[in-house]
Amino acid sequence: MSALEELRSGALSAKENVARYLEAIEARDGEVNAFIELNPHAEQEARRVDERIEEGKAGKLAGLVVAVKSNINVRGLRATCASKTLENYVSPYDATVIERIRREDGVIIGMTNMDEFACGSSGETSYFGPTQNPSARGRIPGGSSSGSAAAIAAGFADLALGSDTGGSIRNPASHCGVVGIKPTYGLVPRHGLIDLAMSLDQIGPLAGDVRSAALLLEVIAGHSDREATTLRVSPPEYSSALSADLSGMRIGFAREFEEYTAKEIIREVKHALSKLEAQGASVVEVELPSLDKALPAYYLTVFVEFFSATRRYDGRRYGYRIEEVCGEEVLRRIMLGRYISQKEYSGRYYRRALQFRSLIKREVLSALAEVDLLAGPTTPKLPHRLGESLSPLEMYAYDLLTVPANLAGIPAGVVKAGEVRGIPVGLQLHARPLEEQKILNAMYALEGGT
Ligand code: GLN
Repeated sequence: MSALEELRSGALSAKENVARYLEAIEARDGEVNAFIELNPHAEQEARRVDERIEEGKAGKLAGLVVAVKSNINVRGLRATCASKTLENYVSPYDATVIERIRREDGVIIGMTNMDEFACGSSGETSYFGPTQNPSARGRIPGGSSSGSAAAIAAGFADLALGSDTGGSIRNPASHCGVVGIKPTYGLVPRHGLIDLAMSLDQIGPLAGDVRSAALLLEVIAGHSDREATTLRVSPPEYSSALSADLSGMRIGFAREFEEYTAKEIIREVKHALSKLEAQGASVVEVELPSLDKALPAYYLTVFVEFFSATRRYDGRRYGYRIEEVCGEEVLRRIMLGRYISQKEYSGRYYRRALQFRSLIKREVLSALAEVDLLAGPTTPKLPHRLGESLSPLEMYAYDLLTVPANLAGIPAGVVKAGEVRGIPVGLQLHARPLEEQKILNAMYALEGGT
């Protein structure tokens, strides 16, 4: 039985659920390093949820335990972004997604580790030390939502929140063998998320199974009056609409995915696609000829937007002056961002990035006009060993297959496709804007539809 079923049937109380996770964290997080800080009030909050369950007033997440990436504000806990810059920054308010989780009686268990300011793909750039991959010992868990994915894989929480600017939910979901979803841009409010690049950032769910991920997504999704960039959509009911019947569904696979990805990963992805065919889907070939432009478009955009977002960390209002205390990767991005934001260079670099971005968007959307889903691998290679040193360009190369969804503003989800030598490999599925349900259904079918 899943925690959700146990809680709903009364076999497990919210307090017991929190207690068992705290015990697991106490026993094993010394090694995994998924959490930066735990919520000291979690048990007390769970007790309150139990009262509401007894009164028959509890919400959709009643008693489920949620881990939160350390770049999302949770009142009274620290939102450090895993940086010395904000090491002592205590959130004065709840992000909109946190308000929604509390309204549905989820219990926040703590703040998870991540790459510093969400800049990275491995989880190794945290000021609080790297996170271990619980599903592939000795390897990186992926990033930047490293702690959130690891917390799910290690059995430290039912659900987790991550943020995805260029793959930070999907990349660690793939490496850790869990479910992760980057929603359509504007579906989930960003209020209370500390920016990496605001035109790309989205908050999304991670979970051990598709139904739980769908449930968390429906709780956090939907318009917020506070935020003009959120889309006006009626509250979705993804979890109750799940269906593993894929009859008539067309799935596209791009030849370019194969070109850039390790063969052993492609083998697992194709195997997963054949399982989807067995559920009624048909797989056709599509083209993404400009895929090679995705990384430069993404990184130039991130450098410029991140540089501008970091100007508030001047050491006066919060924490320390960022340039004085941050790690190497964050500093590199600030310096490159400053350089290309100068008037004389912006035409050469930033405008170019915007052109590439619209090209990618057009190509991805035109491929999706022919098919319901675009399927492929999540990362071009397997996660490297912890401590192995990579050049910045080698690190950026992890993101080649995840950045197109952010550049195009479309939803994309990852579910475990298989394993290569015991290391999880995720299948990535993209859909047209607001067609998250199709992604969820295909993931659900692959999972076995239970
Ligand atoms: N790895 C990418 C980067 O370093 C993506 C980060 C993210 O999605 N937050 O920018």
